[in-house]
Amino acid sequence: MSATLIDGKKIAADYRAELAIRVARLREAGLVPTLAVVIVGDDAASHVYVRNKTFACEAIAMRSQTHKLPADTSQAQLISFVKRLNEDESVHGILVQMPLPPTLDKHAVIEAISPDKDVDGFNYLNVGKLAAGDPGFYPCTPWGVMKMLEHEGIVVEGAHVVVVGRSNIVGRPMVMMLLNAGATVTVCHSKTRDLAALTRQGDILIVAVGRPRMVTGDMVKPGAVVVDVGVNRLPDGSLAGDVDFDSVACVASRITPVPGGVGPMTIAMLLGNTVRSAERVAGLAARMETRIA
Ligand code: NAP
Repeated sequence: MSATLIDGKKIAADYRAELAIRVARLREAGLVPTLAVVIVGDDAASHVYVRNKTFACEAIAMRSQTHKLPADTSQAQLISFVKRLNEDESVHGILVQMPLPPTLDKHAVIEAISPDKDVDGFNYLNVGKLAAGDPGFYPCTPWGVMKMLEHEGIVVEGAHVVVVGRSNIVGRPMVMMLLNAGATVTVCHSKTRDLAALTRQGDILIVAVGRPRMVTGDMVKPGAVVVDVGVNRLPDGSLAGDVDFDSVACVASRITPVPGGVGPMTIAMLLGNTVRSAERVAGLAARMETRIA
């Protein structure tokens, strides 16, 4: 292996330490940044994710609320619950844990969240702000990738960045953030012809496809920075990224591991968005970090 590891765990820990200072400042001003998480039904994995978010809030002295609603909650009940949280002045961020039971319309629920408390950044208003290059709440996983690149001193402006994946939660917002930061961006997806010919052009290659070890060393430009967003559970229970770490690490200059790469950044950015929302309410200089370059 010749590539240097990008240590997402350490970068996320440093960012959380900064956030803890901002939380202390807010508490001195009489305000406790609060994240409300709504979970509908009994999906075991979702309950684990929600617990992790709760612990992460508590670790930096934020407050979290977990609202567990039964699986047979109606669309109208869920939306009116979300609207009550919109009106609750003690709540600064609202997150509805996905997936919802199939009877519920996730788009309508996301749209019911006030854009000012939409710390996941999935509300159409925030999606539009990102597309326009304006300040708003940005989706946490790609925002975490931007923070990671910034932290590592990897210059995005002017770089050719190849993004593999165009989902609404990772690929598309990733492309917008990179464009806003002055990158030249190529987007690939399942219909792309000759994927390797394109991935080999990336100074920075960001992969979010959900297919274990799909990107191999021969698909990477020598010296490229490779960011692996993928998290795939293998039959033996271990985790693998979307990048074949061993072959790619021989070609790339820097690479994120899985686990310990992008994953830890995601929750840290969720906390960051909630702290920023609270800072705005408190009238403290809100950090509207929109452009990396
Ligand atoms: P997704 O919604 O399934 O989207 C996958 C994307 O990959 C789609 O755009 C798809 O193209 C594209 N794709 C699939 N097969 C391909 C192929 N053979 N060649 C080129 N492109 C291909 O997945 P997602 O939600 O974006 O998640 C992607 C990965 O990131 C998953 O492993 C997920 O677990 C992980 N993830 C990690 C975090 C984190 O915090 N670390 C957060 C979110 C997601 P089409 O659009 O044409 O179908």
